Amino acid sequence: MIGLTTNRSPLAHDLEDMLRLFYPAEEREGSLLHDFLEEDGQWVQRFTLDAPQGRFVREDRRAAEDAEDPILTLRLQRRAAKLALYRLLREATGMAPPWGSLTGIRPTKLYRQLAQELGSDAQAQRALVEVFDVSPAKAELLSDVIASQAPYYRWGEKDAVDVYLGIPFCRTRCLYCSFVSTDLSHASMRALLDPYVEAVLRDIAVTAALIRDLGKRVRTLYVGGGTPSSIGTQRLGRVLDALAHAFPETEEWTVEAGRPDTMGDGMLPMLRNAGVGRISVNPQTMQADTLRLIGRDHTPAQVIQVLDEAQRLGFSSVNADLIMGLPGEGLSQVEDTLRQVREMPIDNLTVHTLAVKRSSKLHEFPERYVLPGDEETAAMVELGAACAREMGMRPYYMYRQKHMTGNLENVGYAAPGRVCVYNIDMMEETHSIVAMGAGAISKRMYYAENRHERFPHPKNPAYYLENLDRLLEEKRRFFTED
Ligand code: SF4
Repeated sequence: MIGLTTNRSPLAHDLEDMLRLFYPAEEREGSLLHDFLEEDGQWVQRFTLDAPQGRFVREDRRAAEDAEDPILTLRLQRRAAKLALYRLLREATGMAPPWGSLTGIRPTKLYRQLAQELGSDAQAQRALVEVFDVSPAKAELLSDVIASQAPYYRWGEKDAVDVYLGIPFCRTRCLYCSFVSTDLSHASMRALLDPYVEAVLRDIAVTAALIRDLGKRVRTLYVGGGTPSSIGTQRLGRVLDALAHAFPETEEWTVEAGRPDTMGDGMLPMLRNAGVGRISVNPQTMQADTLRLIGRDHTPAQVIQVLDEAQRLGFSSVNADLIMGLPGEGLSQVEDTLRQVREMPIDNLTVHTLAVKRSSKLHEFPERYVLPGDEETAAMVELGAACAREMGMRPYYMYRQKHMTGNLENVGYAAPGRVCVYNIDMMEETHSIVAMGAGAISKRMYYAENRHERFPHPKNPAYYLENLDRLLEEKRRFFTED
């Protein structure tokens, strides 16, 4: 472990993030000493790094940027600390991460901040490359994302909210999944399904009343998971009927129909009849061996069947998710998957990079799986991007997570006019989100202060059921009290 000691504790989290970027936790050994002080109108930072590569002692000086607002001053200090440490670590390791020094901030948010500070998109793009060391290709990607979002991006739309419902169950657990276990292969979880539906129906009724009382319009409605369709057609049908009645005016309605093995029993016609416009069907890969290895209980042929049926039923938009960097895969497997994706009747493609999260089976038993290296995964991500562009799609939202292979990113591509507005609102944090169901997180925007607060529901469905009354009261207070 490289242990951090700093005299400026509000900066510790950012410095830790930067250390993690260059030294993933398990591998690093050594120490970093950081001193931050103000001297003659300058911010002076002294670093002493003892790392596997040797000892590095550096001093960074830059003009102090004291803003009147202490929060803004701290933000500027965090940025300065990260940049200075980034330069040191880049020198020590010889690594050049594709997103440069960006950690802990959504790249699109930084892009917008920079465009505002510097006066233009071109200047923002240049600063990303020259100051933050973002690769020109990634800066270009960001610029494309911002341009795609422009017709839909709304900041400060106080009269509108997005609505989210979480159904945190899945038929089996994927190797890389880090969610609380709600794997329906366990009888104890199956026993929760009916009570969960009843609880969610109550949550929907109470939340709809709350939104009416707040006088808000519903901009988008999103049903995610888990895999909502894993609870069965009849149960999900009841939930969707309730949503259709509660939020009839929503401009966009998406349901994650992620696992093709949950699409039997009239599921797709039910979704269509309920009024759902957008669905997401997620192959992740079209390699049968990989699907077995990662614990997804479906075949490539099932993916194609479901997409064909979705096309016949006329959903307004269909997304497919892929993951690059899966165990056992190399470039040839990804090329074969993309060859099949090109034939799919979809207008959205989301290209994820594998993230090995701590609570996943993949993290628990790393010795059992062979993962492609960072460079190969980066090449896979490029192939995915090229495929989406060939299919006439453009990138419209992106995000990064911790522990992603090669410090890469997840990108959503869409054909013109087919973006998922919920995804944009969610990633750019432009709207309050009123959430329902276990594991869901409500967000309340405070536009004047450019911030939001979060209200998470318990992740465990049993705990959600037991505490529903209290939860509904607290949610009302969260959105109504100042
Ligand atoms: S489908 Fe998603 S939520 Fe369900 S087990 Fe797989 S990764 Fe987890």
